[in-house]
Amino acid sequence: MNIHEYQAKQLLSKFGIGIPAGHAALSVDEAVAGAKQLPGPLYVVKAQIHAGGRGKGKFVELPTDAKGGVRLAKSIEEVEAHAAEMLGNTLVTIQTGDAGKQVNRLYITDGVDIASEYYLSMVVDRATGRIAMIVSTEGGMDIEDVAHNTPEKITTITIDPAAGFMPHHGRAVAFALKLSGDLNKQAQKLARQLFDAFVALDCEMLEINPLVETIDGKLLVLDTKMSFDSNALYRHPDVEAMRDETEEDPMEVEASKYDLAYIKLDGNIGCMVNGAGLAMATMDIIKLNGAFPANFLDVGGGANKEKVTAAFKIILSDPAVEGILVNIFGGIMRCDTIAEGIVAAAREVDLSVPLVVRLEGTNVQLGKDILANSGLPIVPADDLGDAARKIVAEVKQAA
Ligand code: GDP
Ligand code: MG
Repeated sequence: MNIHEYQAKQLLSKFGIGIPAGHAALSVDEAVAGAKQLPGPLYVVKAQIHAGGRGKGKFVELPTDAKGGVRLAKSIEEVEAHAAEMLGNTLVTIQTGDAGKQVNRLYITDGVDIASEYYLSMVVDRATGRIAMIVSTEGGMDIEDVAHNTPEKITTITIDPAAGFMPHHGRAVAFALKLSGDLNKQAQKLARQLFDAFVALDCEMLEINPLVETIDGKLLVLDTKMSFDSNALYRHPDVEAMRDETEEDPMEVEASKYDLAYIKLDGNIGCMVNGAGLAMATMDIIKLNGAFPANFLDVGGGANKEKVTAAFKIILSDPAVEGILVNIFGGIMRCDTIAEGIVAAAREVDLSVPLVVRLEGTNVQLGKDILANSGLPIVPADDLGDAARKIVAEVKQAA
C-alpha cells in the first residue's frame, strides 16, 4: 500500500526525522490557511498524488508552458493562485502513465533554501534477505538515470535485520554522501532513524529524493515516498487509515473488498485461479502459448459463489479482456461448488467472451457435468496445457 508524501512525512516526524513544516489542503481556502501558519517568505505548493516526478510533470488542462506539480511561491497570493490552478486538474508525470492523475490534495510546505540535494532509499532486498540502504550524492534527479549513466555514484549498504543497525552502517551512509563535520553526524543519526522507522512500520520501500542540506547546514527530508507490506497492515491501523482509494486501480480496490488477490496486467486473457502458485503457472503457460494474461487473480482456498461472481465481474470490467481462463484445483473447495459458481456468475454477467474452464480434484466429474449441462458455451479443458492452448485459440478465432 502506498501513501501520500504529507502522510509519510507525518509518520517520519514521529521518529524525530527533520522535515520542513507543512499543511495538507483539500481546497484553495485550506491551502491559504495552511500557508498563513508557515513563516514564509518562501512556500512550496505540492500536488499530492501517488506518483513521483511531479516537479517535471505537466497538467493536461493547462498550457504546455504552465508550471508542474511542485511550485515555489513567494507570497500567500501566489500560493492561492497555484492552488487554484492545480486542484482538480490532471497531472501527468513519468510515473503516472499517459492518463495522469487528478490532483485532489495539496501539501503547502515551508520553502527551504537548498545547498545540496542527495538521494537515500531503503528496500527489502530479496536477493540478500536484508534491508538495503541505497544512497547517492546525485539527489533530486531520476535515480534510474543515475543508475544507468553513472552507477559508481550509487552505494548500497545492506543491513542484516537480525543484527540490526550498527554504527558502521551510519558511517558508511555519511561517507557515501561525502559529508563531513556536523553534517556527517546528522547523516549517521538520520540513517538510524530511517532504519528504525522502516522496521517499526513494516515498510516495503522508503525513498527520500531529495534529502537536502540547507544553506544553514541542516539535513532535511524534502520529498519522500513510502510503501507498506499489505500483509502487515493489521499491525498499523494508523497507517491503514491513510489509504487513499482514489489513487488505486478501481478494479484492485473492488477485489480487495472480496478478499481476492487481483493484480491488473497488460494482456487480453483474464485468469481466475485458486492458489497463488497455480495462478503464476497459469500466467506462464498462457505466455508459453503466445498470449498475455490480463490479470493475476487468486480466488483463494475458500471461494464461494459470491466470490466467484465478484471475480468474474472484476475480470470482465477490464475492457482489454477478450477471453477468460478458469483454472481451479478442487481440494478443500469441491469442483461442483466451483462449477455452480461459474455457471451462476456467467449467467449473471451475461458472458460475452470465450470461457475455457479446467477443473481438477475433488468431485471433478460432478463439476464437469454441471458445466456441460448448463447450456452455456463453456469450453472444457483436461489439463493446464490443453486449457492454455484452447483459450489462446478461442481468442485468436474471435478476433
Ligand atoms: P517530485 O518532482 O515529485 O520528486 O517532487 P519533489 O518534492 O522532489 O520536488 C521536486 C524538486 O522541487 C526538488 O528536487 C527541488 O529541487 C524542488 N523543491 C521542492 N521543495 C523545495 C523547497 O522547499 N525549496 C526549493 N528551493 N526547492 C524545492
Ligand atoms: Mg522527489
